Amino acid sequence: MPNSFENLEKDLFSDNKNGYEKITEETKKDLFSFCEGYKDFLNECKTERECTLWIEKTAAAAGFKSFSEFESLKPGDKFYVKNTDKSIFLAVMGKKPVTDGTNIIAAHIDSPRLDAKPNPLFEDTGAAYLKTHYYGGIKKYQWLTIPLAIHGVVYKEDGQKVDIVIGEKESDPVFCISDLLPHLGQTQMEKTASKFVEGEKLNVILGSMPFGDEKTNQKAKLSVMKILNDMYGIKEQDFVRADIEIVPAFKAKDVGLDRSLIGAYGHDDRVCAYTAFMALMTVDLPEKTVICHLVDKEETGSSDSTGMQSTFLENMIARMCAKTIENYNDICLRDALENSECLSSDVTAAYDPNYADVFEKNNSAYLNGGVALMKYSGARGKSGTNEASAEFVTKVTDIFKKNDCVWQIAELGKVDGGGGGTVAQFLAVLGISVIDCGVPVISMHAPYEVVSKLDVYMAYKAYKGFYI
Ligand code: MN
Ligand code: MN
Repeated sequence: MPNSFENLEKDLFSDNKNGYEKITEETKKDLFSFCEGYKDFLNECKTERECTLWIEKTAAAAGFKSFSEFESLKPGDKFYVKNTDKSIFLAVMGKKPVTDGTNIIAAHIDSPRLDAKPNPLFEDTGAAYLKTHYYGGIKKYQWLTIPLAIHGVVYKEDGQKVDIVIGEKESDPVFCISDLLPHLGQTQMEKTASKFVEGEKLNVILGSMPFGDEKTNQKAKLSVMKILNDMYGIKEQDFVRADIEIVPAFKAKDVGLDRSLIGAYGHDDRVCAYTAFMALMTVDLPEKTVICHLVDKEETGSSDSTGMQSTFLENMIARMCAKTIENYNDICLRDALENSECLSSDVTAAYDPNYADVFEKNNSAYLNGGVALMKYSGARGKSGTNEASAEFVTKVTDIFKKNDCVWQIAELGKVDGGGGGTVAQFLAVLGISVIDCGVPVISMHAPYEVVSKLDVYMAYKAYKGFYI
């Protein structure tokens, strides 16, 4: 009776089919069109500031108002608050009081990159360079010999702010960092990958044409400084009042003949930020208040006033309580936090057959497997973990089921194989129930990361389901 065994198998075993075998033709069309918007977002937003300002502008156009415009809050009110220009908090007020808890999605909008040092310019043997300090966990060698763009803000001496973007338009020049030719690379090639290129060699070439006469020193540096001064009115000293980021210059593109994947810089974690924000845009009058919190500095440990370890989220929930409750006291805030639930929306590693040895096949996230839950993070005996309870996993997976969301559950790599953290632990410490839930990524933290369009769309569906 082979047939009944087949039915039994179907009944008793988990369904690990590829996501495309679980969706309709219509959903396939929807996910492809959804991802066009995502690619545009990636191309416009390559820094946390650009993300913050894009989200603010898009939210405002959709009727969200600045928090300061509200004397008090009522169900259905929609607002945003920026934490400087590097992080943004958005909410739609629910029918129930804030003390009943909120549904929070937290994602981060900073990505690994190279930052300009405060005194970045120097000249060596006729060429001008920009010195960098890398930001986040990068494999430094991946940043050599690729086209780079410069994004950032500079404040001039008179306090005027200047936005800089060079290397994105088709007509713009780009920048790059050199590598050694293989002919002379014998000693270099013997080094381990972590020593292959030292941090102090990540110098970006800015120009090489001399400017000035025989009395002039550092002619190439003068040449690039003159161009920057003509373009933006800035002087060398102004670099100390700046946030300048060096990011890959390439655009987000479809990858593969079937166009099922997207290659781009910064999927980690803009893929979860974008999908969470787009999900929030569909919410009108939720039962509980819903929050989309997009933070900075995750890649360096979240320890900054714009990162998840700051009290900003807590303060915002306190302010929301104060604007909805007449006799507000601190207990209201504690209740609101402890009754809140959160998806810590960050990317996870997608199984890569080229590096099969670091994954445990049964507990890996796969491309096209759908949005990935991580019940726990941490490494070496779950050390430093946030672990979602069976109860919370039940609640979340039930939401996924009701919303036809394709999902999977995974760990980040083999036991004792390494590990990685997210913002989850910093929400958990406030008493909030939290689980990691994001999109699997191939080549995470590389200048060019790859995700599956199906997984991107399923993250959006998951987040939408969580909000309503
Ligand atoms: Mn991340
Ligand atoms: Mn990361």
